[in-house]
Amino acid sequence: MDALYLDNAATTRVHPKALAAMMPFLEGNFHNPSSVYGPARVVRQAIDEARSQIAGHINARPEEIFFTGSGTEADNWALHGAVAASPAKRHIITTAIEHHGVLYACRALEKRGFDVTYLPVDADGLVNPADLADALRPDTAVVSVIMANNEVGTIQPLAEIGALTRKNNTPLHTDAVQSVGHIPVDVDALDIDMLALSAHKFYGPNGIGALYVRKGTPLAPLLHGGAQERGRRAGTENVAGIVGMAAALNVAVAEMPREQPRVTALRDRLMAEILEKIPHTKPNGHPTRRLPGNVNISFRFIEGESLLLHLDMQKCYASTGSACSSGALEPSHVLMAMGLPHGLANGALRFSFGRDNTEADIDRLMAILVPSVERLRAMSPLYDDFVKKGEK
Ligand SMILES: *Cc1c(COP(=O)(O)O)cnc(C)c1O
Repeated sequence: MDALYLDNAATTRVHPKALAAMMPFLEGNFHNPSSVYGPARVVRQAIDEARSQIAGHINARPEEIFFTGSGTEADNWALHGAVAASPAKRHIITTAIEHHGVLYACRALEKRGFDVTYLPVDADGLVNPADLADALRPDTAVVSVIMANNEVGTIQPLAEIGALTRKNNTPLHTDAVQSVGHIPVDVDALDIDMLALSAHKFYGPNGIGALYVRKGTPLAPLLHGGAQERGRRAGTENVAGIVGMAAALNVAVAEMPREQPRVTALRDRLMAEILEKIPHTKPNGHPTRRLPGNVNISFRFIEGESLLLHLDMQKCYASTGSACSSGALEPSHVLMAMGLPHGLANGALRFSFGRDNTEADIDRLMAILVPSVERLRAMSPLYDDFVKKGEK
């Protein structure tokens, strides 16, 4: 039986059209786009075309798109580059629920003496714009707020946040890695100054991302070397990656009017079925302001990691939501910030749907999930206690 892939928020399969667009640049058109001869100019043109297409999809201008080696690099560049460009400003504002690409960049800056404010979130994972208004200072160098959270899917009120940063004249960066290609994104409508995106989250290849930088935003380079990307991001371009990213985004944006509601329906059906058929479960994230494909549920009396392994043995692939880099069973910083008790945070699982998933996948998952949860609970001393006490 085929694997049941329900981890599209971790990465996605490369779309055949993206792969087809990439192949010529790995074969015949291998030339360095910075060279002056004819075939190299063809490669340069392909990069320029990809840049224009990507810019168009987020309502930016081509010269505001800079290719990077990943979403993580784009996030790091936005933060490190913004503070380096404004040396008199020593304050940064971000949220408690950022991806590690932003969170750990902020921690690194804190170690270098910067003052970082981590905005709290409510139980649904939403930032309150009033908290941002209170936190903004004249010496705030940059504000970074994730557009849609990778673990729980909550979509932030960025238009309100953007209005505040614009009024304070502070650059606003957003990590839109989970959003671009999945929900409409318009940098002008939201008053965004910098935006990170990554191809492998929307059916492009790994190892290629981009940072949108609004014209006039103070930003120092992160990498020094060649004059690529108009001197702002050194390093020979990942040509196949760039072309593949644009091709993938073209497809994702073209299919969005159909895919967004279809995947949202899968999400809502799975959430409803789990809550109905499996007792002692709690949905995480905002009920409606959430990414189309994201389902995050806590299973009481169970370790998410154990459940994942059970599913893995049955070729069903999901995630706890938080990449557990240390190998330690540390609860997700996102769920903790939302106020979940340890037990519920440790029992959380994320299922993320994508373009390959169908209704039949939900039937298959439920057939695996229900007995797996029952079996794990039967072995759980916590559950045993709970049953003996006869609590509700
Ligand atoms: C995946 C992800 C990143 C990191 O992107 P990479 O290209 O894998 O480095 C950053 N932020 C969010 C929200 C993500 O989901």
